[in-house]
Amino acid sequence: MKYKRSLLKLSGEALMGNNEYGLHSNRLKQYAEEVKNVVKMGAQVAIVIGGGNIFRGFSRIKENIINRIGGDYMGMLATVINGIAFQSYLENVGICTYIQTAIRMDPIAEPFFKDRAIRHLEKGRVVIFVAGLGNPYFTTDTAAVLRAIEIQADVLLKGTKVDGIYTEDPKKDKNAKKIKNISFDMVYKMGIKVMDTTAFILGNENNLPIIIFDINRIGNFKKAISGESIGTIVTN
Ligand code: UDP
Repeated sequence: MKYKRSLLKLSGEALMGNNEYGLHSNRLKQYAEEVKNVVKMGAQVAIVIGGGNIFRGFSRIKENIINRIGGDYMGMLATVINGIAFQSYLENVGICTYIQTAIRMDPIAEPFFKDRAIRHLEKGRVVIFVAGLGNPYFTTDTAAVLRAIEIQADVLLKGTKVDGIYTEDPKKDKNAKKIKNISFDMVYKMGIKVMDTTAFILGNENNLPIIIFDINRIGNFKKAISGESIGTIVTN
């Protein structure tokens, strides 16, 4: 195994599968299996979960009804709903899972506490971080990078629907080629939007490798943890 401790970022979009919103049970089952398989191998897995399948704060401001900050808090709460759901799916396959939240809500989850999170991981438990960073104007991608650094993860794995970074948009350009390795500097230069700039900057400054990979292909998570070349790896 190449990466003993990893942070998996699961976006809300991944959780909704082919649905237009909400959760897709088969997808959650599949992701729970993926996580189980690597935990059984002795890998330590923490997860940051997104909320875009339920609510994306920013899109609402255009209508001028819900303000930015209110919308962002709604987005953060959406991640809590997803976290509770995914905890159930993980427990269902026998993986002991704790939720830690950036916004206190005592009956639902532990407050975020890095040392405690690390302790859970060392005991073979999965930790799901919810409510992003607890602050508006951020994304769960940035939260994923920060949490990965805080818990001293060896790698951040961003599970998406595409299998990495391409030279052009693969949906629009047939000649688009997949890039296997790329530096953070090139990511900025090429204007790659697979994660927001804040997230990339934080990763760059703290020397955190980020792998962008297709989470929907069965076995991919295990391959990534094992060090097989899948998706795109972004490093310094
Ligand atoms: N959000 C926030 N602060 C955070 C994390 C999330 O304000 O630290 C809000 C923001 O409105 C965002 C929404 O929560 O649009 C859902 O998160 P995100 O869009 O990152 O989820 P994903 O794209 O992974 O589904």
